[in-house]
Parts: sequence; structure tokens; C-alpha cells
Amino acid sequence: MRLEGSCHCQAVRFSLESAQPYPFMRCYCSICRKTAGAGGFAINLGGDYRTFEVQGREHLGVYQARMEDGSTSSGQRHFCTRCGSALWLYDPTWPDLVHPHASAIDTPLPVPPDHVHLMLGSKASWVEVAAGEGDRCFDDYPDESLAQWHERHGLGGA
Ligand SMILES: [Zn+2]
Ligand SMILES: [Zn+2]
Repeated sequence: MRLEGSCHCQAVRFSLESAQPYPFMRCYCSICRKTAGAGGFAINLGGDYRTFEVQGREHLGVYQARMEDGSTSSGQRHFCTRCGSALWLYDPTWPDLVHPHASAIDTPLPVPPDHVHLMLGSKASWVEVAAGEGDRCFDDYPDESLAQWHERHGLGGA
């Protein structure tokens, strides 16, 4: 489905085709929760970079996180330099993909039948995990990708 998104101040707008539009994946890692997740986690969606269109590029900032081992993450976290909204992650290691934050999407997203909670080993102590029936929890990375979850549920598609 076509997704439209924007930052809060509207200086940056974007759109893309997404075959993985269900916001099921809650990441509690320190990077996600500090840069994009006031509730303790952030939700990324899957999208096709070849269809990605951006207006207001001049207002974009990019953050590449410093990792615990001292290296710099290859993931480029894009945000609006005017209002601070977290917008999307792009990693040149996977040049066909772009991962917008569900929080920046204006198109009504489908409600996921269950959720994956990941990086719980990095969760803040005060965050209560709202895991419902059928949800799966992981201390670090999950055992399936965004695309595999959609396939397993028979959801998504271009
Ligand atoms: Zn903005
Ligand atoms: Zn994360």
C-alpha cells in the first residue's frame, strides 16, 4: 500500500510503497526508545526504497548511532532538524529497503493481529511490556524479519 508520512512541523513529507505496513514490531533498544520512542519503544515499517519520495530534504538531519563496541552504526536515522520528529531508518547495507517510523505515517495503518517485542534486554526498567495473546518476546533480535512476519500471517503484499 502507498504510505504518506510527515514530520510534526510539515517541513518534511514523504511517501513510499510498503509491502510490510503492519505496525507489529516494537523495538525497545536504547537507540529506538531514546530517539523515537517516548513510550519505551519505536515501531518501524518496511518499505521499498525505489518508490521513496521526499519533499523538504534540506530540513533532514541524519544520526548514525555509536554502538557499544565503539563503532558507528551503518543505519542512517533521519529526522527533521526543525521539529525533531524521527522519520525513517535507511541502511545502505540493504539499499532496496527503507524503514519509516509508524509514528510519522499519516495514512491509516492496518491493526496487527499480534506483536513482536524485541531488544527487551535493553528495555528501560519502568517500561511495562503490553504483550497480548499471540505476541512474541525477544531479549535481542527476533527470529523472523518484517517481511517473514507478514508472510506468516498472509498479510501485506504490494
Ligand atoms: Zn519538522
Ligand atoms: Zn531499536
